[in-house]
Amino acid sequence: MCRHLGWLGRDVTVSSLVLDPPYGLRTQSYAPRRQKHGLLNADGWGVGFFDGDEIRRWRSAAPLWGDVSFTSVAPALRSHCVLAAVRSATVGMPIEVSATAPFTDGRWLLSHNGIVDRRIMPVTSSAESICDSAILADLIFARGLDALGDVIAELGTADPHARLNILAGNGSRLLATTWGDTLSVLRREDGVVVASEPYDDDPDWEDVPDCHLVEVTADGVTLTALGGKR
Ligand code: GLN
Repeated sequence: MCRHLGWLGRDVTVSSLVLDPPYGLRTQSYAPRRQKHGLLNADGWGVGFFDGDEIRRWRSAAPLWGDVSFTSVAPALRSHCVLAAVRSATVGMPIEVSATAPFTDGRWLLSHNGIVDRRIMPVTSSAESICDSAILADLIFARGLDALGDVIAELGTADPHARLNILAGNGSRLLATTWGDTLSVLRREDGVVVASEPYDDDPDWEDVPDCHLVEVTADGVTLTALGGKR
């Protein structure tokens, strides 16, 4: 399972979310604390953020811990909505930038922690990669993010081995699902962090139960139980 993180709030630097925290995504790339599947996340990383209404992405198929260019530039990148991920590729999936989250349809940024049988998803030519996560992202974009909970419950029921933790953001909303892996939420004064695992030992981190949909807007955080079965 990969690890991901989303931010919605005031403008903050990408480094303050990804690089600076003691157990942030850079540390999680070689020493995650709550990862149940896979030991480390060395198969690439990606950061996407909103620059006004523009989506900007920086992805790599190399480990985050060794990226000195990103370390140099990340303190100068500021945004109110950020989505970042480090990747542990599923066996059989290509290790390439186009298979690395976050994926986008031009309106949303999206990351997937998990695994899903590609045979239960429609074949399209629009997925960025043959990686299961890229095909899943394409399907979610096609169905629309308002159907995210339904899509996850349907896929999770069709593939009992699927793990479907999704994180998505569009500049004013973050959406996340738990379906087989960990997720935590930190409500800060200046915004909300949603992450596969806490980036520090702040006691305010709250764990999200499995099979839930999380929605973050300017009005706050809502949790809804998902249908389907796991
Ligand atoms: N299945 C996806 C991939 O291969 C995600 C893997 C993961 O969550 N570790 O990239």
